[in-house]
Amino acid sequence: MSNKTLWLKSPAAVFTGNDLNAANGLVIQGTKILELVPSGQAPVNHIDSYIDCSNMVLTPGLINTHHHFYQTLTRCVPGAINKPLFPWLKFLYKVWAHLDEDMIYSATRLAALELMLSGTSCVADHHYVFPKGLENAIDIQVAALETLGCRATLTRGSMSLGESSGGLPPDSVIQTEDTILEDSQRLISRYHNRADDAFIQIALAPCSPFSVSTELMKNTAKLASHNDVLLHTHLAETEDENNFCLREYGMRPLDYLESCDWLNNRTWLAHGIHFSEQEIQRLGKAKVGIAHCPSSNMLLASGICPTIDLEKAGCNIGLAVDGSASNDCSNMIQEARQSLLQQRLRYGAEVITAEKVLGYATKGSAAVLKRPALGQLKPQQQADIALFSLDELRFSGVGSPLDALVTCGAYKVNKLMVAGKWQIEDEQHINVEIAQLMSEHQDLARKLQSKVLG
Ligand code: ZN
Repeated sequence: MSNKTLWLKSPAAVFTGNDLNAANGLVIQGTKILELVPSGQAPVNHIDSYIDCSNMVLTPGLINTHHHFYQTLTRCVPGAINKPLFPWLKFLYKVWAHLDEDMIYSATRLAALELMLSGTSCVADHHYVFPKGLENAIDIQVAALETLGCRATLTRGSMSLGESSGGLPPDSVIQTEDTILEDSQRLISRYHNRADDAFIQIALAPCSPFSVSTELMKNTAKLASHNDVLLHTHLAETEDENNFCLREYGMRPLDYLESCDWLNNRTWLAHGIHFSEQEIQRLGKAKVGIAHCPSSNMLLASGICPTIDLEKAGCNIGLAVDGSASNDCSNMIQEARQSLLQQRLRYGAEVITAEKVLGYATKGSAAVLKRPALGQLKPQQQADIALFSLDELRFSGVGSPLDALVTCGAYKVNKLMVAGKWQIEDEQHINVEIAQLMSEHQDLARKLQSKVLG
């Protein structure tokens, strides 16, 4: 990596994610941010080159805290459309049972590319479907992401409670608990990088209370603690889930989580909607992280995450697009807009600002994924930076470019830098031929859907 300095000069607006002033841009050296340049000033350091950013808005690379990349293969599938979570899942499990290695590779590349084009430099994926022949799904995802230069927290998901044992998924997509735990340990040992500048980290992620056994929940928590890695699952997404937990375990989802030794700051939860006031306080006290998924929660009519209450109680809030079968796109800057619109209905226009939701998408998400070197613009942070161009009809006439980024609905970056290297330039990934990737992905999606739909 070169030691040359690059000044991203005089942007139209900057979101740093903190109180620092970078109104006149920032300087990058190697993989890190060297210097922020306050308004009216020039860089203190020697500058080798610069980019005029006067028509750009700069943000830290966005960070997606929850996704299911494989679901890009089952977007808007007839049979799943217009259904709430449980019937939606029951239909799609039958399709997902036919996933293969080529499909996972292609879906991972397509989803990550879609995220990167919307300004995302770090992604978390929750893969929990391991039908026969797809035991190496996470290894395939690591290889796929390497071709894109994107950071990731890949979670080793799991399902062990099939229909025959009272669970929701069919028996064909579940694995034995020994297999799950052995593979979890293998993946941590092989791929989990603990460094601040890590590209790949591994976390453990039983799918949900209604698809794994209590014993697996407990043993996964033990394994995560032993290896010092994060824990992730879906929780409190729907009222159906509350009813399932009351019926099967005689307690609400959060009590169940606590009984499995999960109520601590190692855990982050997707959705986190249906909590009582007392449960919110317990989550905050335990410093649990929340992946707020507004589009998915609206599409499946699940509910509205109480973000501000959770935050006030002590939780970190990150933003997430969720899987592509319940969103159905993977666009992080659009998701920030969805969060603003949805959360205003609950907390009002003065509380939910563009800065607030951009904060969820950057600094908040970095806190959720325990990535302190990401999510903010300040010296010594990793140089993960998104540049959004204002040169579009939707931005013409704006007064505040930063607010416009969210409310006028930006949907793609002009440039994206990860660890000091441009991965997106002029709205194109440097290594990926989009048309070819799409054609191959669409063929695989058709092949997968035809297994059930004919
Ligand atoms: Zn999900």
